[in-house]
Formats: sequence, C-alpha cells, structure tokens
Amino acid sequence: IVTKQQIVKWLETAADIFARQENFLTELDRKIGDADHGLNMNRGFRKVMEKLPAVADKDIGSILKATGMTLLSSIGGASGPLYGTFFIRAASSVMGKEELTLEELVTMLDDGVKGVQLRGKAVAGDKTMVDTWLAVINSLRQQPGSGMDLALEHAAQAAEQGMKATIEMQARKGRASYLGERSIGHQDPGATSSYFLFTALCDNVL
Ligand code: ADP
Ligand code: MG
Ligand code: MG
Repeated sequence: IVTKQQIVKWLETAADIFARQENFLTELDRKIGDADHGLNMNRGFRKVMEKLPAVADKDIGSILKATGMTLLSSIGGASGPLYGTFFIRAASSVMGKEELTLEELVTMLDDGVKGVQLRGKAVAGDKTMVDTWLAVINSLRQQPGSGMDLALEHAAQAAEQGMKATIEMQARKGRASYLGERSIGHQDPGATSSYFLFTALCDNVL
C-alpha cells in the first residue's frame, strides 16, 4: 500500500533531488540541448513545494493534479507541459483516494506516461523521458503478484537501464533532435530527471 503521506514525501524528496542535481541535469542538457533542464526542474519543484501545504490534506488525485498544474505553469520549455501532463493524467485514476495498491500505482504511472506520449508524440527509442517511463511500466507489468518492495526494486533497476539506454539513441523529439547523429553518445536530460523522479518515489515506498 502507498499512503497519501508517502505521495507527499515523494514530491518533497523529488524537490530535494532536483535541487541537488540541478547542475548535473543542466550539464546533460548543455551537451544536446540549451542547458536549462536542471534549472527548469528545480524551479518547477520549488514552486510545487510552495503550493504543497495548501493541498497536502486533500486526496492523492488532488495533490497530483495540483502538482501538474503548478509544473505546467512554472516550467517553460518542453519539459513543463510534459511533466505537467504526466501528473495531471496520473491524477485522473486516483481522484478521491487516500492510499493506493501496487496495481493502482502502476495504472497511475501508466496513465501519466500515456499522457506524455499523447502530448509529445514520443515513442520508445526517441531518446526522451518516455524511454525511462516505458522501462518502468514494462518492468512493473511483468511482475504481477510480486510484492510492492520487490516490484519497485526491479522497476528502479529498469528505470536506470531505460535512462542509460538513451545514451546510444539518436534523438527524434525535442531540441536534441536538431543535432541528428550528433545527439548519439549523450544521456538524455529528461530521461535522467524521470529516473530521479521515479527513484524518489521508490525511496519513500520501499
Ligand atoms: P527544452 O528542451 O525546451 O529546453 P528541457 O530542457 O526542460 O526543455 O527538457 C528537455 C527534455 O524534454 C528532453 O531531454 C526530453 O527528455 C524531453 N522531451 C523533449 N521533447 C519531448 C517529447 N516530444 N516527448 C517526450 N519528452 C520530450
Ligand atoms: Mg533545455
Ligand atoms: Mg529550454
């Protein structure tokens, strides 16, 4: 079971991680983008932290929806609308809930990723945040019946593999795609921030 308190802690942990990893994410984005991804994520999650006290007593869906709205309005660039959509769509199946089963958590994340794909049109292998999330979802779907701890542990490993797999990919979406073949050999910033976001969840649920 994932409690509402753990969801709140997830967002707090994510904000901490994005503050600490701001430079790292920005350096990744310097190689194949415009050197602002760390700045974008840190700014967005600082805003989420400002808004969190006003919604922390509400249900999980409302908390996630508010998070998405905040990210949508406070992060510029590609990642704002995409992460905003991720949380808003993730919220849809968990409105009114105070806790989640593993199955509900998987559906929630899957909805979020589908929202990102609907909005950004990225598929597996396009070298985006979607590559991390599809690795997570595939891993979680492959282990029905296993406990929450084991399932998330495996999914965290899959997330790392999904992130690292972007190194060898040629970007087909976003700014990095302008580089063509020169985007090969660099880890995608958004795949990396998505890895941090998912491990922040695991840190609070395991
Ligand atoms: P910008 O590129 O506008 O400066 P960011 O640097 O904050 O925005 O985010 C870049 C990241 O956004 C990329 O590393 C990639 O993972 C992700 N991204 C870009 N376009 C798409 C898309 N169409 N679908 C999914 N993710 C995308
Ligand atoms: Mg950028
Ligand atoms: Mg930018």
